[in-house]
Amino acid sequence: MKLFTVGPVEMYPVSLQIEGSQPPYFRTKEFSTLMLDIERWFLKSIHAPENTSFIGLTCSGTGAMESAVANVLTENDRALVIDGGSFGSRFVQICERFRIPTEAYHLGYNDAFNKERFLEYEGKGYTALLVNACETSTGQKYDLDFLGEFCKRNNMLFIVDAVSAYLADEIDMSRQGIDVLLTASQKALALAPGVALVAVSDRVYQQRIKESRSDLYYFDYSAYIENQKRGQPPFTSAVSTMLALHQRLEDIDRRGVSAERERHAKRAELFRSLARDLPVELPQYSLSNSCTPIRFPKNNAGSVFDYLKSRYELILTPSGGELKDIQLRVGHLGNLCDDDYYLLASKLQEVLML
Ligand SMILES: *Cc1c(COP(=O)(O)O)cnc(C)c1O
Repeated sequence: MKLFTVGPVEMYPVSLQIEGSQPPYFRTKEFSTLMLDIERWFLKSIHAPENTSFIGLTCSGTGAMESAVANVLTENDRALVIDGGSFGSRFVQICERFRIPTEAYHLGYNDAFNKERFLEYEGKGYTALLVNACETSTGQKYDLDFLGEFCKRNNMLFIVDAVSAYLADEIDMSRQGIDVLLTASQKALALAPGVALVAVSDRVYQQRIKESRSDLYYFDYSAYIENQKRGQPPFTSAVSTMLALHQRLEDIDRRGVSAERERHAKRAELFRSLARDLPVELPQYSLSNSCTPIRFPKNNAGSVFDYLKSRYELILTPSGGELKDIQLRVGHLGNLCDDDYYLLASKLQEVLML
């Protein structure tokens, strides 16, 4: 079986080996050292400014999205969310659940982010912008430099879900002026699901976290930040995944984050060039390196998915909602190589000629 999904993805043998072993007890000096290494390598990989706080959570990416909203925003905020698909909608729903006044900049599945249209939100009193760096449901990549400038001009907090964009597209917390950045273990980190990583800017920590909110317990950032000073989580971590994360981040740190990103970019480029010869369509908007959405003019995405899965054990990423029959996504994260894409392209050719 070969996963061309966006998460969980094909894991590397070394990660499988670590995650398949007995987890150690974690209230130890050794585990504290490991957590401090993870903090250092993770913050370096996103070019975080001095004094950025690191939080390691035991949950999937959505838990990190919810925790960011619940820890950072209040009913006195006015949130603006870029809602270009199911992950943008998720941010809207989370904000609404926490009764945060929220406005959505909505994009249909064929719509490219439009800078002129977006600038209509300028000077309107919003206090925070929430965006999925890559809206994974459509593969659209947003311009974080542009959005970071927008936030700076409008004195807004910039909250970025980079669950699928981390290590696939460029994330630079300093240059892009990001206040809260979050990602999760099962995407480009290619680990088992269950760990989420969050970085919080010093200004958000000083202004919004230090005085902890009483209605959060498990997800209260101040407890994580306080305990992380000595390298400990407040509650039991997904210990095995943390060990595998330590190995992955050390490896990425050694090779350089841009080399890791380049690896994903090259795969995306290769598959997109192969897809040009197939009877499928690619969207016109700017694409993330994490995945390539392919659109089927005959609305047969479901049967293509089934064919590749049952005949060849090639697993693409199906889409939900209105894209169900139209789109499959081909992931570029995890332990894949060029030959995997040549094979996939030839089998796609085969099924589309039937
Ligand atoms: C995968 C993903 C998430 C996390 O989803 P979970 O199922 O909770 O892990 C969040 N945001 C984006 C943009 C994603 O791609």
